[in-house]
Amino acid sequence: MIDPPPAQGDRRVDLHSHTIFSDGMLTPEELVARATARRLAAIAVTDHDSVEGLPRAIAAAGAEIEVLPGIEISSEMEGADLHVLGFFVDVTSTTLLERLRQFHAERLQRVETILGRLRELGAPVAFDAVMALAGPGVVGRPHIAEALLRAGHVTTLDDAFRRFLGAYAPAFVARPAFRTEDAIALIHDAGGVSVLAHPGASMSDSAIERLRAAGLDGIEIWHPQHGANTVLRFRALAGRLGLLESGGSDFHAVGRGADLGDLPIPFEIVGKLRQAAGAAH
Ligand code: AMP
Ligand code: ZN
Ligand code: FE
Ligand code: FE
Repeated sequence: MIDPPPAQGDRRVDLHSHTIFSDGMLTPEELVARATARRLAAIAVTDHDSVEGLPRAIAAAGAEIEVLPGIEISSEMEGADLHVLGFFVDVTSTTLLERLRQFHAERLQRVETILGRLRELGAPVAFDAVMALAGPGVVGRPHIAEALLRAGHVTTLDDAFRRFLGAYAPAFVARPAFRTEDAIALIHDAGGVSVLAHPGASMSDSAIERLRAAGLDGIEIWHPQHGANTVLRFRALAGRLGLLESGGSDFHAVGRGADLGDLPIPFEIVGKLRQAAGAAH
């Protein structure tokens, strides 16, 4: 049973959501059905480092809803983990698909390395068990944590990160760095517009100015992690720097964080993003 949509005046959109092709729980079809039931005018499907769910999501969209092709790329700037959203990316771009294949290969290699460390630490888990938990999604530490839990090596997922997988724990292996500037360029190369995802209250204006200089097109203003003051601050900054506005619930699963359409995000931003994508190419 799907809850009724939140009180709304104008048509709403939600430009940040995940499916089973990354770490979301819904299939592309289920996600689009939920967005339609909640009367959203448009959603963007933005899986982590994957465009595999997009053809299915777009095919599932009826006349009432528009599905924007999107992606959320993990990157690094000065040691910080920054996520960059791409909208209106061409899912057949060979540059993009080749880079995503490389991410995928790097992640598989990293899982092998982490599992080797866990074996040495006396907490062995099988590679196949981890891959089964990832399903079609992008494999990562959450799946290894779940496998550790099922194997009885840890008592909770938190315990898995604290004792083994967290940034300062003994089985931690960093992913090869991918610079935020390169994420922006990759999105542009695939014909998309780049938007800094959930910068958060601690992100400095000067860091965003540097990204603007590197070609960043927009900022995610509305996000569950942004309080009212942060929204106001980033709107003012976007206005000053000439950056586009975007926003979304970062929906992953029912009962986990915000639901699709929970945030009041105006329909108008879709047209502006589309125009920017069209204008750039
Ligand atoms: P990966 O992309 O493989 O490095 O995994 C990153 C994901 O692991 C994040 O998106 C979180 O969902 C999860 N994660 C990272 N650190 C923690 C932590 N300390 N506790 C729980 N989950 C975490
Ligand atoms: Zn996610
Ligand atoms: Fe993110
Ligand atoms: Fe996300």
